[in-house]
Amino acid sequence: MRVAIIGAGAGGLFVGANLSGKAIVVIFDGNEKAGKKIYITGKGRCNLTNNCDKEKYLDNVVNGKKFMMSAISQFEPKDTINFFEEHGLKLKTERGGRVFPLSDKASDVTKTLLSCCRQCDFHFNEKVKKISFSGDMFEVETDKGKYVFDKVVVATGGKSYPLTGSTGDGYHFAEDFSHNIIKPKGALVPIKLGDNFVKGVMGLSLKNVTLKGEADGKNFSFFGEALFTDKGISGPIALSLSSMINTAKKVALSLDFKPALTEEEVEKRLLRDFEGNLNRNLSFVIKGLLPKNLVEPFLEKAGISPEKKVNSVSVKERKSIAHLLKNFGLDYQGLYPIESGIITSGGVDLKQISPKTMESKLQKGLYFVGEVLDVDCLTGGFNLQTAFSTAYACAKAIEKDFQGGKNA
Ligand SMILES: Cc1cc2nc3c(=O)[nH]c(=O)nc-3n(C[C@H](O)[C@H](O)[C@H](O)COP(=O)(O)OP(=O)(O)OC[C@H]3O[C@@H](n4cnc5c(N)ncnc54)[C@H](O)[C@@H]3O)c2cc1C
Repeated sequence: MRVAIIGAGAGGLFVGANLSGKAIVVIFDGNEKAGKKIYITGKGRCNLTNNCDKEKYLDNVVNGKKFMMSAISQFEPKDTINFFEEHGLKLKTERGGRVFPLSDKASDVTKTLLSCCRQCDFHFNEKVKKISFSGDMFEVETDKGKYVFDKVVVATGGKSYPLTGSTGDGYHFAEDFSHNIIKPKGALVPIKLGDNFVKGVMGLSLKNVTLKGEADGKNFSFFGEALFTDKGISGPIALSLSSMINTAKKVALSLDFKPALTEEEVEKRLLRDFEGNLNRNLSFVIKGLLPKNLVEPFLEKAGISPEKKVNSVSVKERKSIAHLLKNFGLDYQGLYPIESGIITSGGVDLKQISPKTMESKLQKGLYFVGEVLDVDCLTGGFNLQTAFSTAYACAKAIEKDFQGGKNA
């Protein structure tokens, strides 16, 4: 049994790790080494899974929830933790169940996977150009030669962060076998804003705020940390929101600077703050409620001069300030390009893939695992878990197939 794996990222390596020594496995990658994307995950620390049950994993799947039910049942987050620990990688769990190597080194995750792929044959710096099927064998054509295989696993990733090698080739391979591709879009990607104040607050981080989005009539909100960029907003809550709005036609965004308080409570707080500062400028009081750089843009949006004396602020103006602190509208201009996405949403249409085995329903012996599939999750280690679970399901199916004597 000869198995080709296209891509030495998390998904490809995990298929290899589970088949190593059980079949002749050749892993192709256009890069000079394995795991280029793994290296930059979790800011170089690799949040490789989430210490949670499969229900919580499924809650964090944005697209492909139903499809993932079988694969996550076959290989749960706790199996990922056990796998790495059994292979010598010590792990730790941080806030929100995020699991990292104890060493804080993403490269240790790749090293562990590579040690499990000892009996696989790696072909680095070898980009696959074409996969075809004739008779009962696959032909894999690379920029260096042609090879024949019984089975082919496409683990080429999505289209985001293309410098790591994921340039969307897997979609073309799938199309060559008549697969439908759901249009790839950036997910977990910064949001572009048209507001003039953004340039002046670049680098400003907001903690404990809620970012709200209304997308084609559906409401979403994320609480936590946001970060202004040169052209918009990023940080965990903006990235998460982007995944929910990336296919919407009409989007409205706003920030709630005081999510722990109701609008009435914010107004009461304003009244208290006003009382002690009646002869001061309004900007002085607002500075106590917002980061310094946001005071001016905030009052500009409120249409009130920062120099206005607190004692001359009308009830109507006070109410509008309270309302704005809870609903600071942002001028949504779309998302950053797909290349900046932590993950790609869209990809190989799940309807044409067996959720149990990851085998194509259109071509026997052809499998798709990881980000090339139309599955994307929120942050927290869930995307790598998707790569591991789909890879595991695929490897077990291939193993079962050749143990059953088929294609042996
Ligand atoms: C900055 C960043 C941080 C992230 N952090 C996290 C995190 O902490 N936790 C988490 O769960 N997820 C994280 N992710 C997402 C996660 O890294 C991916 O979902 C996951 O790595 C996908 O694995 P994959 O094997 O499907 O694809 P990839 O890792 O993209 O691997 C695909 C491989 O295929 C190779 N390839 C492509 N085309 C060809 C071809 N034609 N021939 C040969 N080889 C080819 C590529 O060179 C590449 O090595 C992060 C992503 C980014 C960009």
